Amino acid sequence: MAGNDRCLFCRIANNELTAKKVYEDADVIAFEDINPQAPTHVLLVTRKHISSLDELTDADAALVGTLLMRAAKLAHDLHLGDGYRIVVNTGDNAGQTVFHIHFHLLGGRSFGWPPG
Ligand code: 5GP
Ligand code: ZN
Repeated sequence: MAGNDRCLFCRIANNELTAKKVYEDADVIAFEDINPQAPTHVLLVTRKHISSLDELTDADAALVGTLLMRAAKLAHDLHLGDGYRIVVNTGDNAGQTVFHIHFHLLGGRSFGWPPG
């Protein structure tokens, strides 16, 4: 089995746990967040297990670029053309709780700045 068998998002990517998937391809999976913070709240994850932005290497450059581009494409497919936010919490102080790299795609409402 690919990935880390104790990792929640690897298990979702491997269909061992269910999630409401909205997109998948050979590199990336996107599914609805279980605790949405906006009318649209999707998580985009790499199939490859990478713990966080801090663990990226040069070999992952194309993969993480693909992840970001898929997020932008999905935002438009989900009709978020009025605006959306992509968030990547990294480390404890930022509130990262799942240590498998993921981009939050949030939309469907206006967002304040600075973020909380
Ligand atoms: P983080 O806090 O690491 O940036 O984001 C983790 C996100 O994963 C949270 O927004 C949380 O609601 C979501 N999450 C945690 N467990 C599950 C789950 O089992 N299924 C889904 N779909 N989302 C989850
Ligand atoms: Zn993982």
